Amino acid sequence: MTDLSTSKPLPTITDLTRPFWSAAKNGRFVLQKCGRCATFNFHPKPWCIECGSRDLSWVDAKPFGTVYSHTVSRNVAMNSPEWQSEIPLLMCLIDLDDGARMYAQVTDCRPEDLHIGMRVEVHCVDISEDAGIPKFRPLVASAKAGAPDAA
Ligand SMILES: [Zn+2]
Repeated sequence: MTDLSTSKPLPTITDLTRPFWSAAKNGRFVLQKCGRCATFNFHPKPWCIECGSRDLSWVDAKPFGTVYSHTVSRNVAMNSPEWQSEIPLLMCLIDLDDGARMYAQVTDCRPEDLHIGMRVEVHCVDISEDAGIPKFRPLVASAKAGAPDAA
């Protein structure tokens, strides 16, 4: 799946955030993890949000979460007509299984089915030649790997 054919506005990628976008380009979902207290950080930061340590490294995160809150956009975002084909757009705050809260789009879901507490899983979408973005979609009930109490 790719967004390469569109000209949607791209995120500003810095040295601090590049690992996040590059990993998603390769289908991986990574977050900063603190080497001192094991907290997962999002957004990327120079120091841990919990203990202030600068001992942060990029690690593969569990690609699952739970919808904390959501909104449905029925208008074109940022006056970019490239978004029109995706309307209505489902934007959510996702509580990741690794603890961080993330702002992300939910796809493959009807607006009327979207709800707080819904279990979702990551899938990555290409947005440029060297960047991808993690999005989420409903977790099918048979996917035991995404159960909240899975080891
Ligand atoms: Zn820490």
